Amino acid sequence: MSVGTVYLVGAGPGDPGLITVKGLALLRRADVVIHDRLIPHELLREVRADAEVIDAGKAQHDHRIPQPQINALLVEKAQAGKLVVRLKGGDPFVFGRGGEEALYCHSAGIPFEVVPGVSSAIAAPAYAGIPVTHRDVASAFTVVTGHENPDKPESAVDYPAVAAAVRAGTLVLLMGVTYLTRIVDELLKAGVEGVKPAACIEAGTLPAQRVIVGTLATIGTLAQAAKVQSPALFVIGEVVNLRAAGLGEGQQVERADPHPDTLPDTEIQ
Ligand code: SAH
Repeated sequence: MSVGTVYLVGAGPGDPGLITVKGLALLRRADVVIHDRLIPHELLREVRADAEVIDAGKAQHDHRIPQPQINALLVEKAQAGKLVVRLKGGDPFVFGRGGEEALYCHSAGIPFEVVPGVSSAIAAPAYAGIPVTHRDVASAFTVVTGHENPDKPESAVDYPAVAAAVRAGTLVLLMGVTYLTRIVDELLKAGVEGVKPAACIEAGTLPAQRVIVGTLATIGTLAQAAKVQSPALFVIGEVVNLRAAGLGEGQQVERADPHPDTLPDTEIQ
């Protein structure tokens, strides 16, 4: 029996229509699907009835299957000759541990392939009417993790460099709900103006999408008042103004799986 292949497939940011054609074809062929928590669950309807589906979903403090076990599972299933789809939210290589999983497969001699996905870092702002770049407004965008407590001495995030990135263009902050206030403090300390436009997008591209618009100085309070929950991201930069300039109107992009009780998105100015 020959070994199977592990496909690290990006499921996209939430709207089930945003998986790639290649990713969907693999999902339909898979013998085993090992998926994260943040994937559009509608996609699991596409899986073969006789395929094995494993939920490796993990909330921040409740790691359902520890990472080493997920790695081992990928290898074990492929060694049993299975076509394995590892379905991950957004893009597998954007804060998704896709690199670690691919390296693990490589070291175990398991063939693997990456099928990139539409990252929430770009798609959630887009659905909110915010392009991450715009001529004359932002000629660069930076994606940073807010997962680390800035108070920790070993924090790997260089905030003066992040502040420079805000001056150079757009900053997209993923996993920033918990430490937002501290991160904003670091940016203000590093010289970013408090009046910089900022937005918070919760459940981007999903029927429950909410968009909150403010400034760097106010976004923390606004997000807290709105009880923003994960998954949410923050966009900081002049591009946020394009939403109010008209791009917010174009966001009712047709969805693959329209939801009858779609909530209107809310805006707190
Ligand atoms: N690989 C994923 C990111 C994984 S990190 C990607 O490319 O999108 C998880 C973080 O992504 C969340 O904490 C949140 O900040 C962001 N995120 C994922 N889906 C989101 C969504 N639908 N709306 C807003 N933010 C989202």
